[in-house]
Amino acid sequence: MNKYLDKVFCADCRSVNPYHICTERRDRVWNGIECTYNRRVAVCDKCGNSVYVPGLDDINESEFEIKSREENGYIQVDDINEILHKYNVEKRPLSLALGFGEHTIENYLKGQLPNKRYSDILESVLCNYGYMRELFDKNRSKINEHAAEKIEAKLNYYELINSHNSMIETVSLYILNSKFEITNMSLQKLLYYIEAFCQILLHVRIFDNRCEAWTYGPVYPEIYEKYKSFGGNQIKVDQSDLSGSLKEEYRRVIDFVLSQFAIFNGVTLKDLSHAEDPWKNAHAGYGSKERCEEIITHDAITEYFTRVNQKYDLSKESGVKKYIASLGVL
Ligand SMILES: [Zn+2]
Repeated sequence: MNKYLDKVFCADCRSVNPYHICTERRDRVWNGIECTYNRRVAVCDKCGNSVYVPGLDDINESEFEIKSREENGYIQVDDINEILHKYNVEKRPLSLALGFGEHTIENYLKGQLPNKRYSDILESVLCNYGYMRELFDKNRSKINEHAAEKIEAKLNYYELINSHNSMIETVSLYILNSKFEITNMSLQKLLYYIEAFCQILLHVRIFDNRCEAWTYGPVYPEIYEKYKSFGGNQIKVDQSDLSGSLKEEYRRVIDFVLSQFAIFNGVTLKDLSHAEDPWKNAHAGYGSKERCEEIITHDAITEYFTRVNQKYDLSKESGVKKYIASLGVL
């Protein structure tokens, strides 16, 4: 608070006095949702009544907005600036690359609140360049060539540096280095639940990889191939500390999913996934022993688990337990 005046006029004391800052909890409705936040209040040192300090309201407002966005899962303005930096792009071409109206990003940077769907798209491109690549390729013709080349160069760079270890490979190694006993069958299901939970808890599409509805549940073929030689046995990999290669918010979600699902063996996880719409719908029409390579789309996973989340609240252990019990396979 050093940048503020040392003393201000107190209307009760009718004199200029020193003051101190306290915080008080306030409830306030923001975009139809109730939010609690800590508001800073200046108090006269002499009489204890509140005094007006120029600039304090602005701080309160901006902290309130940051907190409200955070609690309700909306992207922060700073994160939008980070997207511009990450892809070396200006506001207008970014809007167009994402398929938004051309002034949309500019309005968001001025403080306008995005709708939830656009906010989720922004969160996704911030941490997933593969998703940015997909949208950029689709909308490239709308962007001027100079801006498009700059974005292209950044995407090429991220693709190059990550070509050795994709996100799904890093997450797989992280799972295999956990305390749980993991087989190729359970690994596939855990990846699937991690994709689902990142989507509903972080609004982020963590993998771009193809997920297929095999006889034994959802499978990511490229990861399946990699560990195929272990057959049905526990996969053992060299211990290495991978915690630094994953963002903390990802690790939190992955650890949570592991704590809830890695306690089951591959067969049980397969049974759970067989009771869920994404696998059932993709596998429909195939016999129980028939080879099936139909895609379980990212959207199918998102839609299904969004519904489940609304009903059971999957951010809580008790909600996940209730959901698992509801599938009736244990
Ligand atoms: Zn006073």
